[in-house]
Amino acid sequence: MIERLDTFMARANALYYATRDPFADFTTAPEISQVFGELLGLWAAVVWQSMGSPAHVLLVEAGPGRGTLMVDALRAIRRMTPDFAAALRLHLVENSPSLRAVQASKLDAIWHDRLEDVPDGPMILLANEFLDALPIRQFVRRAKWCERYVEAGRFIERETDEALPDAPEGSVLERCEPALALARHLGQRLATQGGAALFLDYGPEISAFGDSLQALQNRENSDPLVEAGTADLTAHVDFQAFAEAAVGAVHHGPAPQGMFLARLGLFQRTGVLARTQQPEVAARMMQSARRLAEPDAMGRLFKALALCQPDLLQPPGFSE
Ligand code: SAH
Repeated sequence: MIERLDTFMARANALYYATRDPFADFTTAPEISQVFGELLGLWAAVVWQSMGSPAHVLLVEAGPGRGTLMVDALRAIRRMTPDFAAALRLHLVENSPSLRAVQASKLDAIWHDRLEDVPDGPMILLANEFLDALPIRQFVRRAKWCERYVEAGRFIERETDEALPDAPEGSVLERCEPALALARHLGQRLATQGGAALFLDYGPEISAFGDSLQALQNRENSDPLVEAGTADLTAHVDFQAFAEAAVGAVHHGPAPQGMFLARLGLFQRTGVLARTQQPEVAARMMQSARRLAEPDAMGRLFKALALCQPDLLQPPGFSE
């Protein structure tokens, strides 16, 4: 069987998320500190207020994993902004049946396979480490541009007619078509129905050549092509291409995750929580916050990008 890389990646990840516990292979920000979800919940509350506090709003999360982010977000929202808690309806976009079951044990929501299926209306969307799981195509510059296909656990290349920019021989260009389609959909939707979307993920600020396909198995890098469904496959998010595709919306960022979270009050909130804890627990909490924010941990490679309805005030976390 010969499959284009995106076809292989889509099949491999669908199998992986349906049959494995992804959280045995990697740890995401909401699993590191409860403050992450709390801050994103309050971010959504401030955005709702700057939308004019509509009486009904969809709070949507794409790829909620274990539901941890949303549980933490809702706790903070209920405590700090009960009006927003009363106005919101929770919708989750998740295509893995087993993760849906985990989410349903903690959250009262309506589930959808695709973001395009979420009903009309003003919307605030949160998505952490969602875009990196979407399938990519890869092109390699030889004498002409070629595209990568997967056959029996290895890459083969075929010449392509795609119009691609000139680049030195050996350059790899990646394109995530589902992410671009999602950006186009959101741009249009936010412009006409209102709201904002916040994406946290890893990748460069400016589009760059390079092979970023990565497989994680048992917390270690593994061969992405070896056996579909045994490892989590991800690629860097091209934030520049994503933001440019969201025609109709205004974008803020990408800002480094560390700066974004620090501006939202990561260290102050963690300090408040730590104050009432035993010293070892308090130290662990502060260490978790630093892991999310420090440049050599998750603070710089990870970025925050917001897409907003055109007339919205700049959302929290993005101003210098
Ligand atoms: N946001 C969570 C989980 C990240 S893992 C966290 O931060 O912990 C990626 C999540 O996206 C999983 O829930 C996975 O099942 C979901 N997912 C991946 N590809 C998807 C797709 N094409 N459509 C819907 N959900 C998808």
